[in-house]
Amino acid sequence: MKYYSTNRRTPEVSLREAVVASMAPDNGLYMPERIERLPDAFFDGIARLDLHRIACRVADAFFGEEIEPETLRRIVRDTFCFDIPAVRVDDGIWALELFHGPTMAFKDVGARFMARILSHFIGGRGDEHPVTVLVATSGDTGGAVANGFLGVEGIDVVVLYPKGRVSDIQEKQFTTLGRNVTALEIEGTFDDCQRLVKSAFADTELKRRMRLTSANSINVARFLPQTFYFFHAYAQLRAQGVTSPIVVSVPSGNFGNLTAGLFARRMGLPVDRFIAANNANDTFYEYLRTGSYRPRPSVPTLANAMDVGDPNNFARILDLYGRSLDALRADVAAFRCDDDQIRATVADTFARTGYLLDPHGACGYRALRDGLRDGETGIFLETAHPAKFLDTVESITGRPVEIPQRLQEFVKGEKRTVALGAEFEAFKEYLLSR
Ligand SMILES: *Cc1c(COP(=O)(O)O)cnc(C)c1O
Repeated sequence: MKYYSTNRRTPEVSLREAVVASMAPDNGLYMPERIERLPDAFFDGIARLDLHRIACRVADAFFGEEIEPETLRRIVRDTFCFDIPAVRVDDGIWALELFHGPTMAFKDVGARFMARILSHFIGGRGDEHPVTVLVATSGDTGGAVANGFLGVEGIDVVVLYPKGRVSDIQEKQFTTLGRNVTALEIEGTFDDCQRLVKSAFADTELKRRMRLTSANSINVARFLPQTFYFFHAYAQLRAQGVTSPIVVSVPSGNFGNLTAGLFARRMGLPVDRFIAANNANDTFYEYLRTGSYRPRPSVPTLANAMDVGDPNNFARILDLYGRSLDALRADVAAFRCDDDQIRATVADTFARTGYLLDPHGACGYRALRDGLRDGETGIFLETAHPAKFLDTVESITGRPVEIPQRLQEFVKGEKRTVALGAEFEAFKEYLLSR
């Protein structure tokens, strides 16, 4: 299967090239040339399939031509060292708990899968330059990618994050690891970090002297595996006897998750519609409302992993819908949730149901409370464990949150970072001097 660029000004490439290069030379994002429609029989029997079986079938549709079945099965098995349960929260509203992985956020799925695909394609070649994985993080990507790639031979990871804008636990997950992981503390916003990474890819000298790739959701090996759990969500609801139309609500930042959901639907997944939940960074919400796309600098919110003013994957969504706003509006509604609503939603849901939302899941849940129609069942992606946002969640509920053992281990480590400004020249110099 070939991959084309959303800008269409560059030749199509193989999966290997798309994964290793991350972004197309014309600065577009790679898209698979075909999205296979899975047979009805697969959906008829899906309620009896577990996550592993489902993921293998879906992975085969995207990667089956390039990667041997046995290898692909192993990569899927190693990726999912954890389960992704659907949990009933409220009447007609379920949470898809994506936070049971090593860093307790959904990005573990894409990061673990991509680390394995990348090392399958480039790994074990000690004689060549190592590949440097650049990753800009607004909070959770850094930890998931750093842990997903930790100790993988032939790969160096450089994490860029906005100083003072990630939670303590998030920061510890990528600043304490050492080995092949370096953390750059950038004096700026997440958008600055993202811009630095993009500029590095556009820089001919860097491209000539280093083998750079990105583990942000612009990489096809990171966002495509996120399709797996939309199928798994559907299977679990059906297995629980839910027969009504299903609406999926996705707390969104760079829109990798939503794009994966839309891919799953294109593959035949019977989801009626999606809701994209924004926080105060509402570029997408405004786009659906007004039809004009106006990227803006991000503003800090309680749901910091969604603080994105110019979402990366927007180009993919436009491409998927042939740039038709009407077609997109038919499948996707948008919702905007400000910090006051996040606070109220976490407090109210905990008081009424005993379910503790994290600030991102709160946006997804709130979007369903507001937007679900009679007779529909909603499932929102609970994208991180509430303990990752300890101070926020404790100050809202007034109760201590129990920190899972896995997170406590990170907190013990000692933070080590390299401090840099937001100017590209300094960043480039740093990369070349490594
Ligand atoms: C990254 C992240 C999001 C946003 O996901 P996108 O795929 O970038 O839209 C939402 N919630 C959490 C907890 C995240 O880490």
